Amino acid sequence: MKRIVLLGPPGAGKGTQAVRISEKYNIPHISTGDIFRANVKEGTPLGKKAKEYMDQGLLVPDSLVCDLVEDRLRAEDCANGYLLDGFPRTVFQAERLDSYLMSQCMQLDAVVDIEVAPEALLPRLTGRRVCSKCGATYHMLSHPPKAEGVCDVCGGEVIQRADDSEETVMNRLKVYEAQTAPLIDYYGEDDRLLRIDGEKTPAEVFEQIIEAIGE
Ligand code: ADP
Ligand code: ADP
Ligand code: ZN
Repeated sequence: MKRIVLLGPPGAGKGTQAVRISEKYNIPHISTGDIFRANVKEGTPLGKKAKEYMDQGLLVPDSLVCDLVEDRLRAEDCANGYLLDGFPRTVFQAERLDSYLMSQCMQLDAVVDIEVAPEALLPRLTGRRVCSKCGATYHMLSHPPKAEGVCDVCGGEVIQRADDSEETVMNRLKVYEAQTAPLIDYYGEDDRLLRIDGEKTPAEVFEQIIEAIGE
């Protein structure tokens, strides 16, 4: 039973680690970014609203995010824990999550902050490629798919995310500093915050995370 939040700037490696963590603890990986992208792809009303913000590298308004996550956490597969990736992203969202948990007499087991220096993030994000079908993450230099443009996992098409252009990335990094970085202090006030050096290989980062969270 683990309830875990993954924090860190865009490009820190949250998605990459989330796949491993959710497998290790057998808990669902809940990525608000993935949920929004799926809605954009399907052209739902939520997707249409979210797209306006995502395309500019801005956060989707809290009012569209919080209820969505609470609904997801009520699902049966979350009864034995979950891994939140990309939520909370504002102090408001963190407070909403805390009051939801409190109302259920639950609490987070760990908040994992993956730390990467700002100058390392831009090349990670502009070089990022993702599978349009299964969401697997690649990097054009450090981790390309075996066949160009084809996902190793599912054979789907590997593409660049619309918001991984240099201009939008610069915006997202600014938004992170202003709106999400304050969460480090928010969670730092108690012992839940586990700080992880994200500038090692993905396997080494995973080792550190498992050691910090425990079995
Ligand atoms: P996030 O979900 O935090 O935005 P991702 O997991 O999508 O980050 O990773 C961003 C990019 O950096 C991807 O191209 C990924 O392949 C690459 N990456 C992830 N972890 C590492 C690492 N430890 N070292 C180098 N590159 C990494
Ligand atoms: P990354 O980790 O690379 O920044 P995500 O996939 O987590 O990217 O998020 C992509 C976009 O989706 C964000 O730039 C933002 O517009 C939106 N988004 C995702 N999660 C949230 C959230 N919790 N609150 C507000 N907007 C969000
Ligand atoms: Zn795939």
